[in-house]
Amino acid sequence: MAHFAYRNGELHAEDVPLARIAGRYGTPCYVYSRAALTGAWRAWDGAFAGHDHLVCYAVKANSNLAVLNILARLGSGFDIVSGGELARVLAAGGDAGRVVFSGVGKSADEMRQALAAGILCFNVESAAELSRLSRVAAACGRTAAVSLRINPDIDARTHPYIATGLKQNKFGIAWEEALALYRRARELPGIAVTGAGCHIGSQITEIGPFVAALGRILELADALRAEGMVLGHIDAGGGLGIRYRDESPPRIADYAAALVEGLGKRPVRLLLEPGRSLAGPAGVLVTRVEYLKRGAARNFAVVDAAMNDLMRPALYDAFHEVLPVARAAGPQTEWDIVGPVCETGDFLARGRSLALAEGDLVAIMTAGAYGMSMSSNYNSRPRAAEVVVDGGAMHLARERETVADLMARESILP
Ligand SMILES: *Cc1c(COP(=O)(O)O)cnc(C)c1O
Repeated sequence: MAHFAYRNGELHAEDVPLARIAGRYGTPCYVYSRAALTGAWRAWDGAFAGHDHLVCYAVKANSNLAVLNILARLGSGFDIVSGGELARVLAAGGDAGRVVFSGVGKSADEMRQALAAGILCFNVESAAELSRLSRVAAACGRTAAVSLRINPDIDARTHPYIATGLKQNKFGIAWEEALALYRRARELPGIAVTGAGCHIGSQITEIGPFVAALGRILELADALRAEGMVLGHIDAGGGLGIRYRDESPPRIADYAAALVEGLGKRPVRLLLEPGRSLAGPAGVLVTRVEYLKRGAARNFAVVDAAMNDLMRPALYDAFHEVLPVARAAGPQTEWDIVGPVCETGDFLARGRSLALAEGDLVAIMTAGAYGMSMSSNYNSRPRAAEVVVDGGAMHLARERETVADLMARESILP
């Protein structure tokens, strides 16, 4: 079902015209569809229904409390990468017992916070982190459940900035060193080994790399079992790609079938950490055309959203479809959709044929993941409002920042 679609020439989020949202809350504005989020989560959960599993939404894709709460109500788990994200999950009503904690740089404070909350497990990414976690857990009289994140040295064939499973990447424990580290983990106080996992990258559009990575983890799990170390879960990570333009990513059901087949008869729980695939298609960024600027070489539509609101085009040269909020019949021109920020890299889209006039609204599509969560205040721009649509209702999930918010923690010399 299309959660963002035209009705009578007006682009809607579910049953609400985007123009009405822009009129009420201003622009730029992120708009999320509850039905899209719910549908995507259920598709993930349902695809693995035949196998013991837990879908742990990767919070960094979109960490708005309303988004987290919608998923928490469905029984979702969460994959976090900071103490801040843990606090968000708990504030949103998420279950700490379904939280896995990833990331290469967990501080001792973050470890204590997560131990106190009682998270499901730490995805440990280095020998040094394992030692620190053991010390921290033992010191507070707790046991940390640990899953080692293995770097399987698999090419995910995605953008180099979001490939994480190659041995030259900073992530995970080298596959060759994993067995020795598990043996050490078994002896450490404060550590209980519960699993193994990997996360090889993001926006991956083929099944092959996932299956290859899982194969390496299973090889390791089998070797551990032979030594009497039986893992309770395997974490396949996130990374399933979505369609921004003309990509044809695997269907969730096919991805799930391939993983479950890979597991064979091993009685091991499967953890999944999808972020983009849950949140990406569930959101759009609505922005207004400030100026049309025709040039000798290119034509620019200057809009009120910029790279600080949606960084993906500037950072990864990413493609987002741009749709007019009201379908216009006039002649089309090729526009670069750019923001007001003082960087040539400040573009949201380039070379798009659209019939635009000053004051028009456009929607930057498929912006629900790594949009608002990567936004900044560069150029002292307050961050956008976020709205969740639920059927015919709209809910302001985050107020637009004010310039006063931006300066609130600063002070000048006496
Ligand atoms: C970012 C991340 C994810 C989510 O990746 P997506 O591509 O958004 O699915 C999952 N696990 C870990 C460890 C991550 O860092």
